Amino acid sequence: MILNELKYIAKDLTSVPKDLIHRFARVPGVRAMVRYERCNGCSACVRKSFCRFGAISIEERKAVVDQNRCRGCGRCTHLCIKNAFSLELHQPAAVKKFLRAIDNSVSEIMR
Ligand code: SF4
Ligand code: SF4
Repeated sequence: MILNELKYIAKDLTSVPKDLIHRFARVPGVRAMVRYERCNGCSACVRKSFCRFGAISIEERKAVVDQNRCRGCGRCTHLCIKNAFSLELHQPAAVKKFLRAIDNSVSEIMR
């Protein structure tokens, strides 16, 4: 449920300028993982810079996510045609807090 909401947010972020992404795109408690059985090693994720934070590389013909660089923005999850990336929730409480902050911001804007 929460991850689905995050995917929608990530999709919206694709139209935001790169400098804004670098300043604000950080989803606490969420990291991308590679589903190795889906990854065919085409390396499009690296060649086409799916990750704006340099977290993706190719090792032994499979994509690998550097967990220290990944900000959980979710961009890679909807760019890979094999759907090989997934978002993993490591800190549900932190994500819930993040989504609540977004919800509050939207409520303020709509007042
Ligand atoms: S994660 Fe996707 S884009 Fe990257 S190498 Fe694997 S199949 Fe290709
Ligand atoms: S979710 Fe994907 S695109 Fe976003 S920072 Fe992590 S590896 Fe990069």
